[in-house]
Amino acid sequence: MDKKFVKKENLSFKCKEIPLTRKELKNLLNYHLPCLCCGMEMLHPDIYTDLLDNKDFSGPAIESISILEPYEKIMHPVERQVFNMFKSMAVKYPEKSFQELLLLKKDVHELALVKIQNTIFNKINFYRRILPKKTARALRKLMIRTNDIIFDPEPHKPFSRRIFIHKLKGILKNINDTKLKEEIITIAKRLPRSSDEVCAFVVKNARKRSQIIALNLIHPSVGTFEHLQPKCMNGQNNSLNFALECTYCNNSRHHYPLSVQIEENPFMPENAQIQVNKLISLCKKDLCKKEYIKNLQSRLKELSQGIIDLNIDTL
Ligand SMILES: [Zn+2]
Repeated sequence: MDKKFVKKENLSFKCKEIPLTRKELKNLLNYHLPCLCCGMEMLHPDIYTDLLDNKDFSGPAIESISILEPYEKIMHPVERQVFNMFKSMAVKYPEKSFQELLLLKKDVHELALVKIQNTIFNKINFYRRILPKKTARALRKLMIRTNDIIFDPEPHKPFSRRIFIHKLKGILKNINDTKLKEEIITIAKRLPRSSDEVCAFVVKNARKRSQIIALNLIHPSVGTFEHLQPKCMNGQNNSLNFALECTYCNNSRHHYPLSVQIEENPFMPENAQIQVNKLISLCKKDLCKKEYIKNLQSRLKELSQGIIDLNIDTL
């Protein structure tokens, strides 16, 4: 009897109707929807796609600025700062492209970046004194290789924060003292990213073509479908498992569980509520379906172990 009941339950879950088609879900991005995680307004992906082929981005910055101006308000903080830097530089150098302008700034910003990185590396290096010998040796090797990269003005391969943290985690994986491990990784996570430090953005993007630099100013804001349950953990590929998130947040999460994303974004529960309030108001205008919101509410609650418990009473 029990077995039969369980079977029926599974079946009903599998057959649960998909609330919104991909097209319907994407359409919601026409209504200034904030990201589920960071709360920033998202850009409709079709607008971004149209800008992909814009040849004017390779010309003088002044032309690219006028094309990007309507999107300034949805740019993420670092990208907006860089955009404003371009605006003031373009007055002085009206003929120069985005790339040429970044190259003028590269040396100063690179020095600033190396200073920040070096302070963090010194802090990490200190732990060699208290780590087990084998781990300390591996850490020493990593730090020497890293120093070689950051102090070389023309490194063979530029420094990658993501690869550094990955290698550091590998070195520390056998340490029993989880508190110590977390402490070191937390310090490493303070290494600047192009998304949170202007100097890192300038250094990373000065190597790129003007067109790519222009697109990178708005790319983090483009709306995407985030798999609430990651695909690699058998998450479904439809709106029963999709939430609307900006590219920046979606990429930052990688394939980690929702609990890790909340840990790194402590305001996510509040931001998710703001998105849902907006979805409820769209629902009242017949632009979204109740079933999508109800499902989103229960999925978020279940996957976040109750940390994101959205109030949908007004639905
Ligand atoms: Zn976001």
